[in-house]
Amino acid sequence: MSGTHANLTELDARVRAIESLLVAKGYVDPAALDALIETYEHRVGPHNGARVVARAWTDPAFLDWLRRDATAAIASMGYSGRQGEHMVALENTPQTHHLVVCTLCSCYPWPVLGLPPVWYKSAPYRSRAVIDPRGVLADFGVSLPDATAISVHDSTAELRYLVIPMRPAGTDGWDSDRLAKLVTRDSMIGTGLALPVQALGGAAGAPDAASGAPDAATGAPR
Ligand code: FE
Repeated sequence: MSGTHANLTELDARVRAIESLLVAKGYVDPAALDALIETYEHRVGPHNGARVVARAWTDPAFLDWLRRDATAAIASMGYSGRQGEHMVALENTPQTHHLVVCTLCSCYPWPVLGLPPVWYKSAPYRSRAVIDPRGVLADFGVSLPDATAISVHDSTAELRYLVIPMRPAGTDGWDSDRLAKLVTRDSMIGTGLALPVQALGGAAGAPDAASGAPDAATGAPR
C-alpha cells in the first residue's frame, strides 16, 4: 500500500484515507496489511487448486486421501488456512456434475481458489444456481448430456468444496504440471469443465488456464 499518491482514483483515495486513519490510531499494522495483500494477490489462487486436481488425476493414493479427508490431503500440499479448514472434494463423473454455490453469502475455499469472482457473490448466481443449475451452466457455455445429473452444493459457514473436474480425453501420460494447465478456476467451482487438450495449442501459445478466465469470457450469469 506504499507508493505515490498521484493519479489516484476516488476509490483509491478513500482507501488511502481510511488506511492512514487506521494506522494513525494504531488499529492496523501497515506491514500486516501488505502481507495480506501479497498473500491474496500472489500466493493463493486457482493455481493451487489446479495442482490439487492434477495430482488427484495422476496419483490414486492421493485421490483416495482426498475422498476420505480432503482437508488433510490438500493441507499436505501446503494449502491450508482461513476458509480452508473444512474441505470436501466433489468428483465429477459422467453420471454426476457438481456445482458449488453459497446461497447465503459468498463462502469460498480461499487457500485453493483465492478470492471469489464477482459473479460468485452476486444474487442472481446464488439464487439461480439452486433453482436452475442447468440454465446457469448454459450461461457459462457448459452443456451437459441430459443423462448427467447436476448436484448443487450449498457451502455452509463451515464447509468449503473443491470440484474435481473430469480429466480431459487425450491426456494419458501427461505429468501433473502439464495437466494443471487444463484446470480452470470455473472447473473447480463447477461452472466450467477442464479445458480440452486443444486449448493448450502449441507450447508457445499455452494459456495460463489456472489463473482463471475473465468473467466476460466465461459468460457470467446475468
Ligand atoms: Fe457464504
